[in-house]
Amino acid sequence: MNNPKLTSPAEVTRLLTKYDFKCKKRLGQNFLVDQNTLQIIINSLKLNKKDCILEIGTGIGTLTSALSPLVKQVISIEKDKKLTPLLKESLPSSNNIEIIFEDIMNFDLVNFFEQKRTKGEKIEKIVGNLPYYISISLIRQILELNRYLKLAVFLVQKEVGERLMAQAGNKNYSILSLVAQYYSQPQKVHIVPSTVFYPQPKVSSMIIKLDIYKKPQVQVGNEKLFFNIIRASFQQRRKRLINSLSNYFKGEIDKAEIENILTEASIDKNRRGETLTLEEFARLSMAMGNKLL
Ligand code: SAH
Repeated sequence: MNNPKLTSPAEVTRLLTKYDFKCKKRLGQNFLVDQNTLQIIINSLKLNKKDCILEIGTGIGTLTSALSPLVKQVISIEKDKKLTPLLKESLPSSNNIEIIFEDIMNFDLVNFFEQKRTKGEKIEKIVGNLPYYISISLIRQILELNRYLKLAVFLVQKEVGERLMAQAGNKNYSILSLVAQYYSQPQKVHIVPSTVFYPQPKVSSMIIKLDIYKKPQVQVGNEKLFFNIIRASFQQRRKRLINSLSNYFKGEIDKAEIENILTEASIDKNRRGETLTLEEFARLSMAMGNKLL
């Protein structure tokens, strides 16, 4: 059975006190104590009984226990082993919950997905109320697993959500925006105030849904080159493209050649890198890739 009490602040404080558990800020331990927010996260996962779902950050098991009756299997990865005795009480005794005590940043997800697949368990959806200190690099790592995944729903700091969705010209437009939009279609689901957490963080959060493409929607040729061009353009985001690119590729491609490449891609060399759309970066990557062959 689902434990509906886990979203009640009184129950959460009872559990934390009983197990003498001190929430660690450094691990982003802000637990969800709002049934409505939990329901919005669950609805955006469009679950069915065949789903195997991966959760990042079990916490006290709020999302884990709500997911369990709705899917075939929930696998949840949690770094903090100190939560073990508390989870023994808070989690339902369903046989479709697997908790793995590991640091997600050191966890070999590819190997894990492959192993699960050999057992007929396809993990295609991923969810988490992400600890802030790892959210950006983790989202990036997860999107690079696009060949396995279909959907990710994350609760992130609002500012991170805004960066994921930002378009060229917006002040939040960044490398993360391009990574997210290359691999997926990011959508804002809901803004949530800090009051839905215990303890309360200082900032608002956002539920964000990433519909992950099996195949990216733009052709870039060499992906490594594509992301290097993006890095070059954002490293010196106030500089003109011709300068930031020739600086970055110094010794590899000379300035005159870069000018030709930009002309070929129909991109004005005087623009700043941060104004280029995903499609323009893709075109630039194709043009440069052809020259480097
Ligand atoms: N899903 C729960 C908990 C969210 S708090 C809820 O919504 O209430 C974030 C959780 O991520 C914490 O339990 C924290 O211990 C865990 N965590 C932090 N860093 C982690 C890491 N590197 N790997 C796995 N889990 C981590």
